[in-house]
Order: sequence, then structure tokens, then C-alpha cells
Amino acid sequence: ARQKGSGTVAFYSTEIQNKIMEAQGIIASFLPALEAHEFVVYYQPKVDVNTNKICGAEALVRWMHEGRLIPPVQFIPQLEREGSVCRLDYYVLEETCRFIRKRLDEGKKVPCISVNFSRRHLEEDYLVKKIVNVIGKYGIDHGYIEIELTESEDFQNYEIMSEIVDGLRSEGIATSIDDFGTGYSSLNMIKKVDLNVIKIDKSFIPMETEYPGKETDMVMFVSIVDLVRKLGKKTIAEGVETKEQLRYLRQVGCDIVQGYVFDKPMPESEFEVRLEQGYKD
Ligand code: C2E
Ligand code: CA
Ligand code: CA
Ligand code: CA
Repeated sequence: ARQKGSGTVAFYSTEIQNKIMEAQGIIASFLPALEAHEFVVYYQPKVDVNTNKICGAEALVRWMHEGRLIPPVQFIPQLEREGSVCRLDYYVLEETCRFIRKRLDEGKKVPCISVNFSRRHLEEDYLVKKIVNVIGKYGIDHGYIEIELTESEDFQNYEIMSEIVDGLRSEGIATSIDDFGTGYSSLNMIKKVDLNVIKIDKSFIPMETEYPGKETDMVMFVSIVDLVRKLGKKTIAEGVETKEQLRYLRQVGCDIVQGYVFDKPMPESEFEVRLEQGYKD
């Protein structure tokens, strides 16, 4: 139960109360966990469907807490609401830069790696400068880093987003829009913000089996890919799981695929092995 201003008492259901406790627990353990390096960066390859070669990767965070590997869905939303997600994103950016620096020092190749930046960063001052400073600390070319932003339904944010995307571009840093199509006004955003890469959400990728609505899915998907291409941007299809989907994506001219059909996100050491192997048909 919680005391309200007027003296009335509001009761939360046990379920809500548990959620609140859990969220408070996550937030309270966040900073100590960050200091203890409990956050681990996994990498998922992006594959060029024309050559079957790795052409990039996405950094995805996991939390190694008390012997358990916690997936981001279990802590990112809470950190996002509370705001500490920004600290975490910078940590992931640093870890990614450190990894790239290490590869380069060893004389090895490394592709461009994208890092997720929560929409909470749109509220931040000097965002572009801060990103450039982090990359600068590791002395790596800006082209090695790409920033993934998620669509925002907030109209006012387009201006801010546009400023940030243009600012990053002028520093040689590409920006991609994540989960494209799932927001309220995807077309508006694509019109107002000059992004480099569009990541089409997995919910738009037609499945291999026949099902009601498949036709509509295919028409929509082809049209999105076509639109993005005509605008001179790259498309990435994410969440691609089957060979059939892959064949289909090649057919309709989607450039890059990210999904279990090639790889799941993996720890750094495994990713390094993967980078040595490349891909075969
Ligand atoms: P996202 O950015 O859309 O990342 C793609 C998610 O799809 C990842 O989940 C990835 O593991 C999963 N995925 C990849 N291929 C497939 C596939 O073929 N099939 C299916 N079903 N899923 C696939 P993950 O790693 O659990 O991350 C979930 C979300 O958490 C991310 O979605 C992103 O929104 C957020 N996230 C992860 N790391 C960070 C981070 O460092 N910062 C921020 N702000 N958010 C992050
Ligand atoms: Ca992403
Ligand atoms: Ca996504
Ligand atoms: Ca997502």
C-alpha cells in the first residue's frame, strides 16, 4: 500500500508491487553491476546476401548477474524508464571500441559494428560530441561505428533526431533506424530524417509457410525494400531465421541480413573465430 497526498491509500496488486520491487532492484544494482563489469557485449554478424560474407555486426548487451545471463528485455525497459540506459549505452560503445582497437592492434580485420542508442539520448546535450569523444579515446576510424536509433512516435523528436543524424554523418558515423515499420509514422520519419540504413523489423518478413495474410506481408515487404532502395539507403532485414526467407530476401533485392539463419549473438571470443571463418554458401 502507498500513502497518497490527500490521505487516501492506494493499493497496488501484488503483481504490480512485484514489478515495482523488481524494477527498483534492477535500478539499485545497476551502478554496482556496471562498475563490476557485469555487463557483457555480444556480437551478431550482419551478412551481405550477395557474397555471404560478414559485412558488419550489432553489439547486444547481456547482464551476467549472480551466475545468470540476463537478456536485455529483462532490464533495458526499466533502465530506459529511469534513464540509466544512457550510461549503459556508452559502456557498450566503449567495449565495442576497445574490441575494435584490439583487433586493429593485432593487425586483424574488423567490420563496422553498430551500437544501440536508446531514444533517451535524444534528450542529451552534446550527444554527437560525446560519441566522437569515446571513439576518439580508442583512436579508431569513425567508420567502424554505426549508431542504431529506434523510431520515435514523438513528432518533435524528428527535428532533434535529424540534427543528431546529420551531426553524426558529418563526423563520418552512419546511423540506422531500428525496428523500421513498427512505429506510428515510419514514413514521416524516413521523410524527415536522412538516415543511412533502414533495419526492417522481423514482424514484416514473410514466413516460409502459407498462411492467411501472407500475400499482404509480401507486398508490404517488397514495397518497403523498393522504397528504401529508391531513396538511396541500405536495407537490413533482421530476425531472419530460415533458408526460405533468405532465398526470398535475395530475390527481392534486400542487401543485408541479420538473423539466426546465419548466427545468434555471440560472445567476443566466438565472434573472433567467426570473423576468421567468414561464410560459405
Ligand atoms: P534489437 O535492437 O531489435 O535487437 C535485435 C534482437 O533480435 C536481439 O535480441 C537479437 O538477439 C534478436 N534476434 C536476432 N536474430 C534473430 C532471429 O533470427 N530471430 C529472432 N527471433 N530474434 C533474433 P536481444 O539481444 O535479446 O535484444 C533485445 C533488445 O534489447 C534489442 O532489440 C534492443 O532494443 C535492446 N538492446 C540490446 N542491447 C542494447 C544496448 O546495448 N542498448 C540499448 N539501448 N538497447 C539494447
Ligand atoms: Ca538494434
Ligand atoms: Ca531491431
Ligand atoms: Ca527491437
